[in-house]
Amino acid sequence: MSAQKGRLSIRRKSIVHSELQVAGGYRPEFASSVGNTPVASQSTSKIWKLMEKYLPNSKEAIQSSVVNHVEYTLAKTRFDFTLLHCYQAVSHSVRDRLIEAFNDTYQYFNNKDVKYVYYLSLEYLIGRCLQNALVNLELEGQYKEAMLDMGYNLESVYEQEVDPALGNGGLGRLAACFLDSMATLNYPAWGYGLRYSYGIFRQQIKDGYQVEVPDYWLDRGNPWEIERLDVNYQIKFYGSITKKVEDGKERTIWEGSEIIVARAYDNPIPGYNTFNTINLRLWRSLPSSEFDFKSFNQGDYFKALESRQRAEFITSVLYPNDSTYAGKELRLKQQYLLVSATIQDAIRRFKKKRKEWKEWPKYNALQLNDTHPALAIVELMRILTDIEGLEYEEAWEVVYNSFAYTNHTILPEALEKWGVELLGNLLPRHLEIIYNINHIFLEKISRKYPNDWRKLSTLSLVEEGTHKTIRMANLSIVGSHAVNGVAALHSQLLTTNLFKDFYELRPAKFQNKTNGVTPRRWIRCANPGLSALLNDVVGSDDWILDMDILKNFQKIADDPAIQNRWMQVKRQNKEKLYWWVKERCGVDLNIDSLFDIQVKRIHEYKRQLMNILYVIRRYLDIKKTPAEERRKLFVPRSIMFGGKAAPGYITAKRIIRLVNAVSQKVNNDQEVGDLLKVVFLPNYNVSNAQVIIPASELSQHISTAGLEASGTSNMKFVMNGCLIIGTMDGANVEIAEEVGEENMFIFGARVEQVEELRNKMRNSNYRDYFGPRLTEVCDAISSDLFGYKYDLDALLDTIRNKNDYYILGADFESYCEAQQRVDNLYRNKSEWTKKSILNSLRSGKFSSDRTIRQYAEEIWDLEPCEIPNPSKSEKERFIQRNIN
Ligand SMILES: *Cc1c(COP(=O)(O)O)cnc(C)c1O
Repeated sequence: MSAQKGRLSIRRKSIVHSELQVAGGYRPEFASSVGNTPVASQSTSKIWKLMEKYLPNSKEAIQSSVVNHVEYTLAKTRFDFTLLHCYQAVSHSVRDRLIEAFNDTYQYFNNKDVKYVYYLSLEYLIGRCLQNALVNLELEGQYKEAMLDMGYNLESVYEQEVDPALGNGGLGRLAACFLDSMATLNYPAWGYGLRYSYGIFRQQIKDGYQVEVPDYWLDRGNPWEIERLDVNYQIKFYGSITKKVEDGKERTIWEGSEIIVARAYDNPIPGYNTFNTINLRLWRSLPSSEFDFKSFNQGDYFKALESRQRAEFITSVLYPNDSTYAGKELRLKQQYLLVSATIQDAIRRFKKKRKEWKEWPKYNALQLNDTHPALAIVELMRILTDIEGLEYEEAWEVVYNSFAYTNHTILPEALEKWGVELLGNLLPRHLEIIYNINHIFLEKISRKYPNDWRKLSTLSLVEEGTHKTIRMANLSIVGSHAVNGVAALHSQLLTTNLFKDFYELRPAKFQNKTNGVTPRRWIRCANPGLSALLNDVVGSDDWILDMDILKNFQKIADDPAIQNRWMQVKRQNKEKLYWWVKERCGVDLNIDSLFDIQVKRIHEYKRQLMNILYVIRRYLDIKKTPAEERRKLFVPRSIMFGGKAAPGYITAKRIIRLVNAVSQKVNNDQEVGDLLKVVFLPNYNVSNAQVIIPASELSQHISTAGLEASGTSNMKFVMNGCLIIGTMDGANVEIAEEVGEENMFIFGARVEQVEELRNKMRNSNYRDYFGPRLTEVCDAISSDLFGYKYDLDALLDTIRNKNDYYILGADFESYCEAQQRVDNLYRNKSEWTKKSILNSLRSGKFSSDRTIRQYAEEIWDLEPCEIPNPSKSEKERFIQRNIN
């Protein structure tokens, strides 16, 4: 079932050159789409012969390749060479190695005529590339040594890389973990997204408030991407549609009035323990040269230039909203650009196969990461009917059988609904096709359920009202053969609540695919100490590909020697975070205190507010306790928060303000000392997460039951031996199943109880349902104990005025009790460590390798395709032959 075993020596199969060669030496993937036709070189051409060699990886070879890039790529001399340049040269040297595998991978896929999965996502939270690439190529050791020999510490070289943050949070990070698993498991896959010039803003904290700074991440260039000057597609917007009758058949012609170009930027994604390297293709919008001739000819030079700038602006900036829907025209343009360029690219590739359209689903699976790229369904319909001339039903078969949709949230504010006016203006033909799909769909429904108006109106793709909208979730469900939620509880809620009527129509369409995270980045890269320990326990690093084998070693949890080493690893990670916090926040933590961490986007449903209110509760209790008894009653804790608030989300920003106000008060209270420290960790992102998560001992996942679809950071924390304090929500439920409830701190209302609690609160005064402990906390804030009374009172009003939608008041007591259990357990170091070990060893289910195998088998019907891997010695001999 799982994972190819064995290390380097086993997997480096000897190369089968004939299989790697494409007829005529022509590399079809890099054919032009607009303009130039590639010159098909002869296989005898010397270029292609020379390219068959692979780069050697000896220390000297690595050094010479780095030095080559210093001189010829960067044009640097010894007099102006900095650590940044060192990073750039090293990255180029690693990129060279990625490109070899990358080119061969797609040539091989192409030769084998495999089915592809296209993963469409508006977000990829990819994180830094250098270490990940070296780990996956299994060259980290060699590069470390090569660099050390030249006087550079590889870890400080890593720190030079900007963190590409082309996503908001969990959804974008999931897409990145999935790419890693798809490459590692040898699935023929393509990731498609947008190359935003500005990623998610950088968060600074000024006077306790969040300040957003633009993230121009391409500032220092991007050594990882390959710009494809020859892969460009035209994208149309606005304009009009006309109908024409040709041979008795009606044809629709859409003429766009704004035409821009999408250009491909390729980002190689190396698999681990395989030569397979797949592509994340990101589109950048550019002006189209043909389009503005008219303005130029009319002499309006500046108007023409303005329209060119508008074109470039489309992929400028990522929308910084997590779990809210924007409704802006520019956002719709972004979505359509991704969709249209990707579908054109997939069609071009398919057409080279010279197969019939009805075979499309046999060769292509398209996965929609949420509804953001849902227009792909409509775009493929449009091209098949309007341009390729298929009948509607034929086209629908092709579309329906290739698309699948992943839902990520049931929060109503996150469900995309595009205004009919906006959509019809920007994409008139697409709106027409949506109406058509809806018409045919609703006719079927009304035949099955005559006069059931409620059903018709909930299933309809169109939401009627003064402001008519298109429901993108309904479009995605109707146009897909599979719909999945991202954790068992969430998938169940989809079938019983949000998509109940769709479920009753076609129960077999609905599936669950519990999220996962890649152990390569989240253990192997982020926690080298733990990786080394696990290697020793297992006797190999096979766990990186097969996390389930860790279960076989559970008996070590009781071994005092292992427990000691486990604690040492955690302590080293805590030390690293200690310096990180000292440098960035100016706070001196006690390394022996319990590191208690909640990092994730700031949102009311995630209830950071409940966490900080409990911190205040703890503070008040410490102050009330006589000094000599404090150490007996309270475990010293360092409580850390981190996460970005959407710029327009005032309540979320006030939560940050409150955390910082409490931090200021508590950290400067001499009486409290190291018993309690509170820190806001600025600018939470992937690379910071890689420092924060391994250092955490207690991790908070405390959303209102039913509202966190899955959560993925809970999985990262568990793998790294953190104990979770959490509600029975999202994937926490399955984590509890795997690691055992006794190894977590579960509290709070269950999903079934939430609605009733809400109703109860609606009819009473908050002082009644808050309980005395929470009331006292709120009164302390309102008495201006922490300052910022205006902001903080407004914040409290979100839970006070019979309006506590996230039932924070109802869950508070149970949360405090769970926190007491945390203190009690932490006093017993051995028991705590045992549970920490068990959490880690039992977390195998949450590897994204498991998730991706399930997608491949149960939705995509996709087979792995591993490319023959040239052995190292084979490479060396080849080089020798070519040199001599
Ligand atoms: C994993 C991750 C998330 C998702 O966190 P949740 O707690 O699951 O919401 C968000 N941001 C970053 C940077 C991550 O790495």
